[in-house]
Amino acid sequence: MPNNNEKMVCRVCGLIQLDPPWGEDGKSPSYEICSCCGVEFGYEDSSVNGVATYRKKWLEGGANWVDAKERPSNWSAEVQMKNVPTEFM
Ligand SMILES: [Zn+2]
Repeated sequence: MPNNNEKMVCRVCGLIQLDPPWGEDGKSPSYEICSCCGVEFGYEDSSVNGVATYRKKWLEGGANWVDAKERPSNWSAEVQMKNVPTEFM
């Protein structure tokens, strides 16, 4: 399913970000930290393997939010991860 928000989401956990993690061109990482999974854009999410490794660690650790106060009360990792672009799933 084409998703216009694809460049706005974290490749690891699917959280919609305020700014595109990899820039408008998809090649200029912001080096911000995802408030959900804690990945640094431009670092652990630079490759499909990197994303898979980081996500596995995050899920095995209980899929905790780095910034716990940002976590919606009815949040589900499974639902949010549907936002992840297909090439990173
Ligand atoms: Zn994330």
